[in-house]
Amino acid sequence: MPANRNVVIIGSGPAGLTAALYTARANLQPLIIEGIEAGGQLMLTTMVENYPGYRDGIMGPDLMAEMRAQSEKFGATMIHGNVTSVDLCAKPFLVTTSDAEFNAKTIIIATGASARLLGLPSERTLMGRGVSTCATCDGYFFRGQEIAVVGGGDSAMEEAVFLTRFATKVTLVHRRDTLRASKIMQDKARANQKIAWMLDSEVEEINDTGRGEVTSMVVRHNKTAVRTRVPVSGVFVAIGHTPNTSLFRGQLEVDANGYIITHDGSKTSIPGVFACGDVQDHIYRQAVTAAGSGCMAAIDAEHFLENIPEHLATV
Ligand code: NAP
Repeated sequence: MPANRNVVIIGSGPAGLTAALYTARANLQPLIIEGIEAGGQLMLTTMVENYPGYRDGIMGPDLMAEMRAQSEKFGATMIHGNVTSVDLCAKPFLVTTSDAEFNAKTIIIATGASARLLGLPSERTLMGRGVSTCATCDGYFFRGQEIAVVGGGDSAMEEAVFLTRFATKVTLVHRRDTLRASKIMQDKARANQKIAWMLDSEVEEINDTGRGEVTSMVVRHNKTAVRTRVPVSGVFVAIGHTPNTSLFRGQLEVDANGYIITHDGSKTSIPGVFACGDVQDHIYRQAVTAAGSGCMAAIDAEHFLENIPEHLATV
């Protein structure tokens, strides 16, 4: 028989762990299934300077360790591993991992979104050491320096323009000669004198893995095959995000880009299933907003459980 739970939280980034803290303090004994990338995107960052309460900043992994310990202190149970399937038609819901099954009266989905990456080994090695996927988080570290943004969509334009507040020069690298971004965003970027353009070009290598910091990138022109070494101290990869929603495909309402649609706080299209953090937010994508929405999901789940139909209350 599957174990019975009031709340199963899927995902352990700031949204999932805040939902865990609040449901634990509401005495609901939540179970958190951490997922393969336990701790979420903050595990890939170094210094976090914009999470309130840490005047001198805190390392991303340390912040996640604090959040985890805080929720465990109040009775949240974490299990390693990944959810392999979810049945949202079953009542109670059925959550299956690689080695266990759980019945859940409510589910909080906090599976996040993954930044798309170029796929270069050096990009992975230097992530958080000059390579970033979040200009809002890391732009401040590049005051007075020359940096690059990769991508041709609205995010790349927005990040490039934003980064000119700090950097002396921002080189925008895009793989085609036309941009995907909306005209208004393109115009704004093109009007900015601090932005240099390398179109029809791809980043082939980011240096210097040996020193553990970004010193330059090698850009290859797609038509001429000419390679150029561009000195930069930061590379912002802005080629889109993928919400981690494949588990719920066909079971929950999602938008055209696959993000879970929420309404009235964290409610999804299925009563008793709540979503928080980047899996339902492609706009703000901040640790603090994810944590805030995790709190909302916990309170929504608590209210749902107070009014749960009699036949489920016995689970
Ligand atoms: P996006 O629109 O999917 O654009 C991704 C960009 O990255 C494209 O230019 C794409 O090139 C490029 N790319 C993808 N994979 C690549 C790879 N492996 N190597 C090199 N380049 C690669 O993503 P987004 O810019 O994050 O925007 C997502 C959604 O949010 C969009 O609907 C956008 O309008 C919206 N958004 C709106 C705003 C705003 O209005 N303020 C701001 C940000 C985002 P190709 O063009 O060649 O495919």
